[in-house]
Amino acid sequence: MKRALITGITGQDGSYLAELLLGKGYEVHGIIRRSSTFNTGRIEHLYQDPHDPEQRLVLHYGDLTDSSRLVTLLEKVRPDEVYHLAAQSHVRVSFDEPEYTGNTTGVGTARLLEAIRMVGIETRYYQASSSEMFGATPPPQNEETPFYPRSPYGAAKVYGYWMARNYREAHGMFTVNGILFNHESPRRGETFVTRKIARAAARIALGLEEHVYLGNLDAIRDWGYAPEYVEGMWRMLQADHGDDYVLATGTATTVEQWVRYCFDHVNLDWTDHVRFDETYLRPTEVDALIGDPAKAENKLGWTAQTMPEQLARIMVDADLAENRALVPTSTLGRTAR
Ligand code: NDP
Ligand code: GDP
Repeated sequence: MKRALITGITGQDGSYLAELLLGKGYEVHGIIRRSSTFNTGRIEHLYQDPHDPEQRLVLHYGDLTDSSRLVTLLEKVRPDEVYHLAAQSHVRVSFDEPEYTGNTTGVGTARLLEAIRMVGIETRYYQASSSEMFGATPPPQNEETPFYPRSPYGAAKVYGYWMARNYREAHGMFTVNGILFNHESPRRGETFVTRKIARAAARIALGLEEHVYLGNLDAIRDWGYAPEYVEGMWRMLQADHGDDYVLATGTATTVEQWVRYCFDHVNLDWTDHVRFDETYLRPTEVDALIGDPAKAENKLGWTAQTMPEQLARIMVDADLAENRALVPTSTLGRTAR
């Protein structure tokens, strides 16, 4: 039985990846942060009784800022594959917390790679690199495109990317950079723009709220479906050698177009419900990210299946289902869909 260690298992991608690997028969170990409230909502459905000897999902407390804990965990788990997904992953927040973002998203990667080297285990390592590293470099972007990060988050990810490359070249480690373009799902954090809009459209349709406040509607993103992207991560670690791959749909959608997809789906005119708030602007914006996934298609046989309009519908439907329970029964008959 193969054993995997996932950092960031409580996040969007970690939860889908845990599902995928358990389905493939792996023993899955995940690092979770100690929190005063439960942060395991996305993996609740996967967690078995910890006393069950058959259980294949094991959770451990740990943090990317705690090197010694990373060492003791790696020594204990001795994974065949490490998926490093944990990060302060929000671009706008990274402008408010640049040092913390550098410490977790950037230096956290160095801590983990160095812990693997110190413990001396043979493992395959996946680095969650990001299209945000391309930043101001115009699309289409592929594995050869120069980086020009536009946020502390993007800068921290560039550092992580080069650390993963360096451990491959300097120490012969099997490391992979998955340069993933934005990928979304009903499990996406509620402050990322796709989920924020999908959830707002659903809640407005249900009569639970009236307006949503957004920033720049002109930004272009390449939005794919997260469960398909974690399959790509796994394929990267099954290849013959460590390499770098872009995963993307190759399609361009503006934030405004995404707003239309979501509000059209619940038969509402978005212009009645969307308001501007400059709080959501970034000091430096990434205007356009459109990936070229040709290498992943050729070398891994991976292609994105779900395109943005369909994805928007999946997400709005999930938020309708989740929020419907909050609607007073006396008003249900009057709400859309
Ligand atoms: P999420 O924000 O949903 O999840 C982040 C995870 O990291 C959570 O499990 C979080 O724990 C954990 N975490 C944060 N800080 C620490 C820390 N100091 N120590 C330990 N764990 C920590 O991100 P996604 O699942 O969307 O993304 C996964 C990875 O892929 C991230 O590295 C992200 O930057 C990167 N990425 C994501 C893209 C996307 O479109 N989704 C695109 C490209 C790259 P907790 O639940 O306790 O907060
Ligand atoms: P990012 O691509 O990792 O920054 O993902 P986000 O979902 O946070 O943002 C995608 C784009 O949406 C960026 O260009 C933002 O400037 C834009 N955007 C517009 N309004 C909002 C908003 O209210 N929240 C967020 N998060 N982004 C917004």
